[in-house]
Amino acid sequence: MSTIVPLLLVTPLIAALHIFSDSGYAEESKLQLYLHAFYAKIEPGFVWLIDKLLKSRILGGTRPGRFILKLIGKALWFLPHGVVIDHEAALRLIDEIPEDSHIAVGPCICKMGIGAKAEPYYTDMVIMYGASAYKTAHPDEFKFLTKEEAKKLLKDFRENNLVHEVFACFRSKNWAFVICNCDARYCIPTRSYILTKEGVYPGPLVAQVDFEGCSGLKDCGTCLNICPFKAVSSNDGKSNVDVNKCMGCGLCTYRCPRAARRLVPRENYDPRFLPIEHTHPWLVKKS
Ligand code: SF4
Ligand code: SF4
Ligand code: SF4
Repeated sequence: MSTIVPLLLVTPLIAALHIFSDSGYAEESKLQLYLHAFYAKIEPGFVWLIDKLLKSRILGGTRPGRFILKLIGKALWFLPHGVVIDHEAALRLIDEIPEDSHIAVGPCICKMGIGAKAEPYYTDMVIMYGASAYKTAHPDEFKFLTKEEAKKLLKDFRENNLVHEVFACFRSKNWAFVICNCDARYCIPTRSYILTKEGVYPGPLVAQVDFEGCSGLKDCGTCLNICPFKAVSSNDGKSNVDVNKCMGCGLCTYRCPRAARRLVPRENYDPRFLPIEHTHPWLVKKS
């Protein structure tokens, strides 16, 4: 209850700001910053609530229940949107952050909200106004980073098979505020997506397999085991990518021992929620 009341009060305000504002990098107003800091404060409670809904046997375990969850996902349309990105795109985004802006890292709010202590725990990499908002909300938990420290951490996260997800606010895709590094077992947006196709969206790239190069799922199967989105299936015993499920995280391409996988541009990609000019600049003309 202590979470629901502030959420009901603050969500319409955040929604209103996201609908009517279309500001770019580092142009947020004090009110936007204050509201987001407030949201960051109550976010663990929000995560706790969504976790309960996802785990509910009636909601998460039945078709009508999943339909209701999908409607809730649609209703949260005005809250920030997550897009999966590959590792190189995450490094590029860090490079593109203006020098007078901040980067900080703090605890994974999903793990904090559901009380999971699994390592790595400090995986929320907040950027630009997100760094100011989360540093205000959780001053002892978030620590500022240099760009080099941030890029090194992103590499560590990839070694731990975490998926990079950029969250940005509605309409203004340049209003990106965090690069989350997610473990699908705990991540609320990823779990929501797997159940309802809402909460997080595919990135601009998609995996492709070289049929001849693949040694077969029985002999290898690395991609099958590592894919968090169950996008790998069999094609005559070789690996196959289901493009409708592949989110373009690139974990399989990084881990494939035969270099038989690569990321290629996704057809008909909708770039509304990603600052694509900073993450995948060569795709801008095509989008
Ligand atoms: S979206 Fe990912 S990194 Fe961000 S809080 Fe959730 S699990 Fe943690
Ligand atoms: S990881 Fe590479 S070699 Fe192994 S099954 Fe997948 S595509 Fe084939
Ligand atoms: S197939 Fe590869 S790139 Fe696509 S979601 Fe799975 S691990 Fe990520």
